[in-house]
Formats: sequence, C-alpha cells, structure tokens
Amino acid sequence: MSPRKSEPSFRESVDLMFNRAVALMDLSPGLEEKIRVCNSTYTVRFGVRLRGGIQTFTGYRSVHSEHMEPVKGGIRFSLGVNQDEVEALAALMTYKCALVETPFGGSKGGLCIDPREYDDEEMERITRRFAYELAKRDLIDPAQNVPAPDMGTGEREMAWIADQYRRMNTSDINAAACVTGKPINAGGIAGRTEATGRGVQYALREFFRSPEDMQAAGMSGKLDGKSVVVQGLGNVGYHAAKFLSEEDGSIITGIIERDGALVDDKGLDVEAVRAWIGDHGGVKGFPGAEYVEEGAKVLEKACDILIPAALEGVIHKGNAANIKAPLIIEAANGPITFGADEILREKGTVIIPDMYANAGGVTVSYFEWVKNLSHIRFGRMQRRQEEARHELIVDELQRLSDHLGDAWSMTPNFKQKYLKGAGELELVRSGLDDTMRAAYQSMREVWHGRSDVTDLRTAAYLVAIDRVAGSYKSKGL
Ligand code: NAD
Repeated sequence: MSPRKSEPSFRESVDLMFNRAVALMDLSPGLEEKIRVCNSTYTVRFGVRLRGGIQTFTGYRSVHSEHMEPVKGGIRFSLGVNQDEVEALAALMTYKCALVETPFGGSKGGLCIDPREYDDEEMERITRRFAYELAKRDLIDPAQNVPAPDMGTGEREMAWIADQYRRMNTSDINAAACVTGKPINAGGIAGRTEATGRGVQYALREFFRSPEDMQAAGMSGKLDGKSVVVQGLGNVGYHAAKFLSEEDGSIITGIIERDGALVDDKGLDVEAVRAWIGDHGGVKGFPGAEYVEEGAKVLEKACDILIPAALEGVIHKGNAANIKAPLIIEAANGPITFGADEILREKGTVIIPDMYANAGGVTVSYFEWVKNLSHIRFGRMQRRQEEARHELIVDELQRLSDHLGDAWSMTPNFKQKYLKGAGELELVRSGLDDTMRAAYQSMREVWHGRSDVTDLRTAAYLVAIDRVAGSYKSKGL
C-alpha cells in the first residue's frame, strides 16, 4: 500500500494547509469558502484514431479562481493525472500567482497518458485533439485561460497547442498569447524553459542572503559547498541542479530518478547524468557513482538542501521523520503531504514552499504573455540606445585613463561588459530575480513579523490569500 493511502488526498492536503493559514486571518466564512473552492472542472473524453483502432483519452481543465483573468496553469501529461490532482494544482496556481504578483487566476490541466508510449506523430495528434476540445470551450484563450508546460509536456506540446488555437481562431491577432512556454520561433520568450529551475536558484540565493533564515535551519555560510540531493532530473530539477552546481558551487550528491538514484559525495556531473538518462532511459549503469535501486530512500540521505522536483506526495508520514536535510525547497508541486509537513515543522526543518519555490515558471510565462500581447521582443527599443549612453561614459573614462597614464586604468573586461545592452534573456532573468526576491521578502516579513506564524508555508498562504481576498472585495464580493 502506498504510504499516501492513509493520508489526505493532494487536494485535501492543499485545503488543510489553506485552512491552517486562514485560521490566523480575519476573513468572513463566506469569503473564505469562496477562495478555497475550485470554481469548475471540465472533464473530457475523446477518441483518437491510432494504430488501426480508436483509443479514448481522459483529460481535465480545472479553473480554481477567476478573481483575475486570464487564469493560468500548466498542462500535465501523466498516467497519474486525475480530477483531485488537477484541482489541487489549480488551487496552488491561484495562490502562487497572487504571491508573485502575476495578474492571473489559477487553473491547471492534465491528460491521463504516458507520453513515452507514443511516437512524435501520435503525440501531436493526441495533443491537438485535446487542445481542440479545450479551445472550443474557451479553456484555451489568450484572455481567459492560458496553459503552460508541466510534467510530461514542454515547448513541443505548447507549439502544437498554439497552432491548433490559431487554426480555430484565424483572425485573433493575439493568438500566440493563448499558451506560454512556446519555442522562441513560435512566439516564446528567451529563458522560459530554464525559468522554474532558475527561480529555484534565485529563491535559494535569497534565502542564503539572510543570516536569520539560515539560522532557523541551523545553517550558515553560502550556497558554495552545500550538498544537494535532487529528485527528478526533468525540466525543473535539471535546471536547478545545473545552475546551483555550475554557478553557485553547490555539490550535487544525489540524483533520484524513476528507476533509482545515483549517489556521489564528491559531486555528480549533472550534464553527464542528464545525457546518460537521455541515452539509456534511466540513471542505472551511470559510471563512477553508486546506484541505489530504491531511489526514494535517497530522500533520507544526509545533505544540506533537498530539492524534490518530480511529483507530489513523495515526502509523507512514512518517511518524513527520516529526512535529514535541514532545508527543503519544494521545486515540485505538493511534494510534502500535510502530515509530513507537520512532522518536519516539529523537527525544525525549514521548508521553502512550492507556491513560491517553483513560481519562476509562471513568472516568465507572464513575461511571455505580455510579449505576445505587445507583439515586440523585450529590449528591442532600448538596447542600442542604452549601449550608446554607456559608450559615452566609457569614452570619458578612457580619456581619463589616457590622461592619468599608469596611475589608473579600467579593469580588464569592464568596457566590454559595461557596453553590452541588455537583451531579452538578461531582462527576463532580471525580472525573474526581482520577482523571486520581492516575493521572498513578502513571505519573510510575515514569518518573522507575526508570533503566530512559525513557517514559510503558512506565511506564503497568508500573503497570497490576503491578496486574493483583496481582489474579491474590490469586486464587491
Ligand atoms: P518533467 O516531466 O520535465 O520532469 C519530471 C522528472 O521527474 C522526469 O525526469 C521524471 O523521469 C522524474 N520522475 C517521475 N517520476 C519519478 C519518481 N517516482 N521518482 C523520481 N523521479 C521521477 O516535469 P517538470 O516540468 O520538471 O515538473 C516537475 C515538477 O515541477 C512537477 O511537480 C510540476 O508540477 C512542477 N512545476 C513545473 C513547472 C515547469 O515550468 N515545468 C513549473 C512549476 C512547477
């Protein structure tokens, strides 16, 4: 029996976390209920002609809250997709968007499928058909409901969905904004694919800027040299592990995948492991590292930072007490059950919660949506003008340097670095960094500012619910 069976479902877990936070607020019971409940869930069953027969698929699109529109949330392709999961994820999207101040309501979609069972052409037909079913009910629409990638989907699926919508809405000038996470050549934005993992890195950097917060986890120092265990080397886990190891000096001591885990206290080469998975379908056999067949056990390995970046419910009542990492950052949605959260809080583990930790994706999706609506790439108007102004300063410094001779000169590379105007990628990263820092500070203020709030998750819920409530109140509800 899965350890989850004796625990609340994913949606119930999210609701319990919501309830725990809302008990500390002064909301009318009616408004509380309005915010908590999921507005609607559409279930569709459709047939696709495949391999000489018809196969029927089940998909969902759930809209949790329309206090702002469009609503936003990824589309997941996995055999584990069900209504409860989609509703839990949609609720998390509502709170996440509020926390990082992206002007969206919360939604989520899913198709019950194992994408590895189908070839590219079959996947395209299935995805287009699902997109058609959703688009004809305005569940894909630039002004009403804008999906994005999630587990099992990526740029490729988003490009098919965008194209399907465009075929059905030939005169919609904003058609490209119907979905985010598209490839650049189909209206995407630089930095979207890496965004969620990049956001995890920025979140950790912000955490490590605060000695008080580190102390709460019994930690000190910097990200440099910290040992990290990552579960799931997909889009989110791969980028987070890559950036932390390549740019911040963290050591990836464990990687957990579907077929087992790799362990090496000297540090795993993330690129090499990713390439191995690509070639062999799993981590087993990767040379130079210890292989652990029961991968989930490696969640319990001693390390500084644990990054669950695969799926929900992996830290549950059955293993929470054994988790040794003093800091967990929830890159996946809902990796810690409500029961496990209680156990870990009791132990003093600091948890950077999902609704904040993986918000980099929706943040950059917001930038992509704005780019699509404005029909212009970020930085296109300013870049050369910015460079020209910088050149003026550099020319003056050069004159000074020539005048002073050996007494003063510019640092090597300064000229080159300073002259370079920001392109789209730099602007996206800057906007993401700013968002992650600001949202962290808003949670932190509540965490340290209120004696009845003892963890970041409750603080995150308080900030998010307060903003959603404000939005409903201003609508007269
Ligand atoms: P993905 O499909 O790219 O990667 C998931 C990875 O987890 C894969 O490598 C898969 O093999 C691995 N995995 C699956 N089951 C596993 C198991 N039982 N044990 C260990 N590894 C397992 O998905 P993703 O987009 O990286 O999403 C991962 C999580 O992050 C999900 O919870 C998703 O909701 C969340 N998330 C994703 C985004 C995004 O932009 N993609 C944004 C926010 C949140």
